[in-house]
Amino acid sequence: MSKYPTIGESLRHQGISRRDFLKFCTAVASILALPAAMIPKIAEALESTPRQSAIWLSFQECTGCTESLTRSHAPTLEGLIFDLISLDYHHTLQAAAGTAAESAREAAMQGNKGNYLVIVDGSIPLGNPGYSTIAGISNVDMLKEVVAGAKAVVAVGTCAAYGGIPHAAPNPTGAVSVDSLITDKPIINIPGCPPIPLVIAGVVAHFVTFGQLPNLDSLKRPHSFFGQTIHDRCYRRPFYDKGLFAETFDDEGAKQGWCLYKLGCKGPVTYNACATTKWNDGVSFPIESGHGCLGCSEPNFWDAGGFYKPLSVPINGVIKATTGYALAAGAAVGAASGALNRLKRSQARQNHETVTITDLERNQK
Ligand code: SF4
Ligand code: SF4
Repeated sequence: MSKYPTIGESLRHQGISRRDFLKFCTAVASILALPAAMIPKIAEALESTPRQSAIWLSFQECTGCTESLTRSHAPTLEGLIFDLISLDYHHTLQAAAGTAAESAREAAMQGNKGNYLVIVDGSIPLGNPGYSTIAGISNVDMLKEVVAGAKAVVAVGTCAAYGGIPHAAPNPTGAVSVDSLITDKPIINIPGCPPIPLVIAGVVAHFVTFGQLPNLDSLKRPHSFFGQTIHDRCYRRPFYDKGLFAETFDDEGAKQGWCLYKLGCKGPVTYNACATTKWNDGVSFPIESGHGCLGCSEPNFWDAGGFYKPLSVPINGVIKATTGYALAAGAAVGAASGALNRLKRSQARQNHETVTITDLERNQK
């Protein structure tokens, strides 16, 4: 029997109404691209599921990933997610310090053996384990010790997923990703510099609701958020298709909102959900603010060429490669994945129904 109250009990205790709870379940289904028929099942699961113990480990990182998650606007899905889990160790957010903090980590590991979730941000230095330690324990030792009793691991941010900035040439600390060290546990990568808070929340919600990680792509990223490129969903795409490009950040094309491809936008080769979920509570995303995508959720993005160098330049309908990025990745694969994504989108639309909160309340009675 878990020492944690169920999520339903916990939310009721905080005065969250049945209606708000159903709205939350609808939001979970929506961000995970699940059909409306799943909403009652999500509600049922969350009612009876104990709060999930989670241990958050921060290694070679800038705290941007934690900032991303905590700077969301309240009350939000992200806020509710923290009601879904018991965050038993997070050395930036927890009040405890020193021995008390490490005791909390050990108690969570022993009390939830085989069932807790490990969330990691930051890369792990192997050049010299002493480059980064917590409570005198090297990052590599702490990672292995904590993950040994975990049910699954979530690598949050580009540093944990691929090595990130510390891994950039010449990689002075010998930084590596989580999945290069852990091979015997389910791992999900949520890359991004920083990652989108809604995506972190969605993955945790999926794990809590269904007891397993969602479907992943070949880079261990959740399909529901990384199944399409920024370019696939970019609102400037009609300008790209017409060949209308800004040439500088202050020319007439830029003022008209034309495509930023020639200014180095990496949207065509970057899989992430920025163009749909957006940032700052859905206000906008970098391309909407006039700057091209940097490709922060792809491996090696710091070493992949200049941020302002175009992937390739369209000349009279012919694409000419100009940078270290492979042309195939930029154009041919982009076209193929565009067709595949169009198919996926139309299937997703067919699988979706519309449902109102009132419908759900009626069905719950
Ligand atoms: S190249 Fe960049 S700005 Fe242009 S349509 Fe694609 S994602 Fe949008
Ligand atoms: S628009 Fe591109 S660079 Fe910016 S956060 Fe999204 S994926 Fe990263």
